[in-house]
Amino acid sequence: MAKSLMIVDDSATMRKIIMRTVRMSGLSFKRTEEAGNGVEALEKLSVGPVDILLVDINMPEMDGAELVKKVREMPACKKTKIVMVSTESSQEVIEDVMADGADGFITKPFTPEKFQEKLSPFLN
Ligand SMILES: [Mg+2]
Repeated sequence: MAKSLMIVDDSATMRKIIMRTVRMSGLSFKRTEEAGNGVEALEKLSVGPVDILLVDINMPEMDGAELVKKVREMPACKKTKIVMVSTESSQEVIEDVMADGADGFITKPFTPEKFQEKLSPFLN
């Protein structure tokens, strides 16, 4: 299993927490990247697509909902799995981003078990 992962969140602390939780889940990636907002994520993705994108909803410049739409327009990212990782858990927001092309949703509390459960189906 040699997959790549990008964590997109405007909080550096949150990116660290997510990265640590992913590691604790036992999942391993050959390449991990980080981006602070949607614009930065798109720049990095245009250079090298990733297998899994973990995306925060509320971010400056370009939020997660907008990023999902943009990524789904990129042919190079057709196989990229997008999992939203957010404290935002209103049913309406979740339904909207899923309709726009997200593949999953992880809400607080972030546990290694939850990441394992939500991401492992995409790592085969
Ligand atoms: Mg945020």
